[in-house]
Amino acid sequence: MTVHFPFDNSYAALPDSFFARVAPTPVAAPRLVKLNRPLAIQLGLDPDLLESTAGAEILAGTRLPDGAASIAMAYAGHQFGQFVPQLGDGRAILLGEVIDRDGQRRDIQLKGSGPTPYSRRGDGRAALGPVLREYIVSEAMAALGIPTTRSLAAALTGERVARDGMLPGAVLTRVASSHIRVGTFQYFAARRDDDGVRRLADHVIARHYPDATTAENPYLALLESVIARQASLIARWMQVGFIHGVMNTDNCSIAGETIDYGPCAFMDAFDPKTVFSSIDQMGRYAYGNQPAIGLWNLTRLAECLIPLLADDQDRGIAAAEAALGGFAETFNAAYQAGFTAKIGLATGRADDLALLQDLLVAMTQGQADFTLTFRRLSDAAIDPSDLGAVRALFADPAGFDDWGARWQQRLAAQPQDGAARQAAMRAVNPAFIPRNHRVEAVIDAAVNREDFAPFGQLLAVLARPFEDQPEFARYADPPQPHERVTETFCGT
Ligand code: AMP
Ligand code: MG
Repeated sequence: MTVHFPFDNSYAALPDSFFARVAPTPVAAPRLVKLNRPLAIQLGLDPDLLESTAGAEILAGTRLPDGAASIAMAYAGHQFGQFVPQLGDGRAILLGEVIDRDGQRRDIQLKGSGPTPYSRRGDGRAALGPVLREYIVSEAMAALGIPTTRSLAAALTGERVARDGMLPGAVLTRVASSHIRVGTFQYFAARRDDDGVRRLADHVIARHYPDATTAENPYLALLESVIARQASLIARWMQVGFIHGVMNTDNCSIAGETIDYGPCAFMDAFDPKTVFSSIDQMGRYAYGNQPAIGLWNLTRLAECLIPLLADDQDRGIAAAEAALGGFAETFNAAYQAGFTAKIGLATGRADDLALLQDLLVAMTQGQADFTLTFRRLSDAAIDPSDLGAVRALFADPAGFDDWGARWQQRLAAQPQDGAARQAAMRAVNPAFIPRNHRVEAVIDAAVNREDFAPFGQLLAVLARPFEDQPEFARYADPPQPHERVTETFCGT
């Protein structure tokens, strides 16, 4: 039985300097843990065949499907502010691209499928825990409506990988609009390969930003478009309490998708200084720093593009600076619109931002749970005089009362009726997010007891984040003090 992938590969047609041709390394005992059947169908793949032995072999990297590109992409990147001129897919292989049912080109990549010329000192492998974490969090993001790479499958390799002890090895099949990053541009720019930068920019315009083709300055339009997409993406992260954790330029997608779920996490109690990543000791990628870091990363992209922006360097720099100025504008507009919707304001007023800011300050002081605060405000939207369930989330409930009274007054000036307001709020304030302690419990069951039922259950709950699902209400609860997870690891 053969599994047909309708490949239509464009990246592999770029010059040889863009990638290394390399095959995944066969593994001892491929076993499928999970297939994302709806996504398989969306990609034009046969889910039944993917679940067969031959399918598992492909998804674990043991068998290469016909027509696969099988390349590791070259890229560079700033890691925690330090430039590394060569990173590249050290443990990932791009099988190829397919055109999905909506006509969208999507990359299909194996992550954890063995060494490549870019592996440096790594083994090219992935452990089961980080594979499940990425699967869960990326699919939760998709269900929240936030641009993200997707997870098509998780497969066991039947081999052990050496991390903190020996752990079960696994491969994640990742799907993305593309895997081109800010760091991909940096790779060519650092080599003074102007032709490489231009070829890449042309590829990206054709693939992701076709409207830029007809702009007066297509490369400037490209830069502006990437800036706008990243600005609105990061605003979306802020609105669900998501902390990416490793916002290196090599983890910053040109298509504006969330990519590379390493030590990422959703916040429980709100505090803008929150950091989970064990390797982020300076708090560079703390929740509240994400917009500034996004702009920093895009500035690195702009630097790469300067030679394309104008014949004259000074004019190129001026154009890049003007484009980067657009970040704050797009981010602020998206941030404000999204957060005012979260507190039920359908029409804007000049003082709404202050109202929002004051809530966030009260939440920080009161260590209020981010997700539940907004969800319970939604529940109170019909009768805002009853804020008991919201105030109970604050360490010092009286610290919330002043804000609660102002909110009631502000709502009274809104044209919407309570029921419409509640429906609108519940559609933007999820009940269920991938809480860290739940993710860790799923990983523990899978890694230590080979029990994948909790994984499937958590995925099912997170697929419907805006519905109450009373039978799974406990999944909405913040961790008990003894369940709290304060640190997450890359696990690479
Ligand atoms: P990440 O922190 O996952 O964004 O990865 C940063 C760089 O390290 C990328 O070039 C990865 O391909 C590489 N890398 C991460 N883990 C491994 C591994 N186990 N083996 C080889 N390369 C790796
Ligand atoms: Mg990465």
